Amino acid sequence: MSETIFRKPSAAGRFAFFHGFSAWKRANENLQFQATILENVSESIIVTDLQGHIIYWNEGATALFGYSAQDMLGNTTAILYPETDPHQLQADLEQIREGKAYIGEWKGRCKDGTAIWIDIKTTLLRTSEGAAIGFIGVAKDITARKQLEEQLRQSRDQLKIILQHIADGITVQDRNGALIYVNDVGAKLSGFDSAQEMLTLDVKTLRANIVDRIEMKDEFGQPISFADLPAAKALQGQSYAEALVHYGDRQIGSSLWSVVKASPIFDETGQVQYAVNIFSDLTARMELEQRKDEFIGIASHELKTPITFLRGFTQLLIRKLKKQGLPEPVAMLEKMETQIMRLNKLVSDLLDVSKIRAGNLDYAEEIIAIDSLVHDIADTMQQFSTTHTITIHGASHAHIVGDSDRLGQVFTNLISNAVKYSPQPGQVDIYITVSQNTVTVSVRDYGIGIPKEHQQKIFDRFYRVTDVHDTTSPGLGMGLYISSEIVKRHGGRLWVESAENEGATFFISLPVA
Ligand code: ADP
Repeated sequence: MSETIFRKPSAAGRFAFFHGFSAWKRANENLQFQATILENVSESIIVTDLQGHIIYWNEGATALFGYSAQDMLGNTTAILYPETDPHQLQADLEQIREGKAYIGEWKGRCKDGTAIWIDIKTTLLRTSEGAAIGFIGVAKDITARKQLEEQLRQSRDQLKIILQHIADGITVQDRNGALIYVNDVGAKLSGFDSAQEMLTLDVKTLRANIVDRIEMKDEFGQPISFADLPAAKALQGQSYAEALVHYGDRQIGSSLWSVVKASPIFDETGQVQYAVNIFSDLTARMELEQRKDEFIGIASHELKTPITFLRGFTQLLIRKLKKQGLPEPVAMLEKMETQIMRLNKLVSDLLDVSKIRAGNLDYAEEIIAIDSLVHDIADTMQQFSTTHTITIHGASHAHIVGDSDRLGQVFTNLISNAVKYSPQPGQVDIYITVSQNTVTVSVRDYGIGIPKEHQQKIFDRFYRVTDVHDTTSPGLGMGLYISSEIVKRHGGRLWVESAENEGATFFISLPVA
């Protein structure tokens, strides 16, 4: 019959229509036109008759599977899906026969044996009168996407394994604070047996569980709530938050120190989506620190008494030898006294540091005329300095409530630093200003200054900018730590403004009584 073959397949297999195509042809007047379109789309288009024999195979299908139209016409598509169960293929065809479109992802094999993944949509082909005459399948190559998905799955699995084996605890919370990931270490640090157990609980139950069981405190023994934790800050959008937290488990009586770090993950609109928290166990290190603090406390306390004796007897000897008119040994003893006083200052500072750490540095509460306190300290300091002129500018006439010895200690420290870190003879200027609620005393020097990157850290315990081997300005980095604690305890603030080689100005602001 002339209509058996509409057009013979060319070597490239451009068009090929087999027996049964006459019905399709009759069904559509613009067949030639549509066939050209089908040929030129990049998707692979395969048409089969109702028995599943291929009656149309376009260029896209050749490009996808490597088989030409000649190879495939008359065959079934089973050859393309050797790994798919033929019964499954039949069952899918049945579904389509009932008029449902079939959409699926299949693993196929090309002519050269390469495996590919295709996305396929198959529908029933009908005449304009509605009679089913075959199936039309449109397939797309999705191998690259599938491979990427597989790689992602593998790296997700690897990541999970890595996170599980990290020595730090890790948790991830969504924007409402609900826990969406925790590794086993994280669960154990929170008092749970496993991550699984923790993840089954909702936010409220989880918090109630932790609050019931775990007591959280900061390094000064002050209680910490969930709102104080770094996670809460990260969920509010703070880019990084860190805290040292002591966790005491009331149930089993255990306790641990952890440094908790949190940072947010933002979505594309800039809203916080998750907070990632990392808990590192610092118990061993903190216990060592505590033992060191205790040792420093005991040692400095024990050293105080012999130093007091040494100083007392040195002064007694000086007086006696002066009376006997012996200037040479007096000069030596005076040098000795200066060194004893230095030793005394170091030991007192160490004792103060350990008291601050233990939270028991005592403060008196008295009314202080701040101007005269600053003048007294400056006068005393001036007596010790032959190289620097200390000048006070301004007055506040203000009174504050506090401990004059402790505040005197702060001014002494700032003035002695101003002299110590200004190697050339020169000037130290002190300014006193007052506003409605605050009195501010600033100590300005013209010495070596402090580089920006050190300006926060110099208030930390034992922090020194100076090289440890530099013996020109000795010290142990305790003065500013003690000073800032004293100022804080008076409800005030201590800060510095400086640039390297341009001197430094230390400011103390205190609330007016
Ligand atoms: P110390 O002077 O005993 O080292 P401090 O706590 O008083 O301890 O000071 C900490 C560090 O800050 C010092 O070691 C020094 O590097 C720096 N510093 C303090 N005051 C000044 C200043 N006026 N000019 C320059 N550097 C300073």
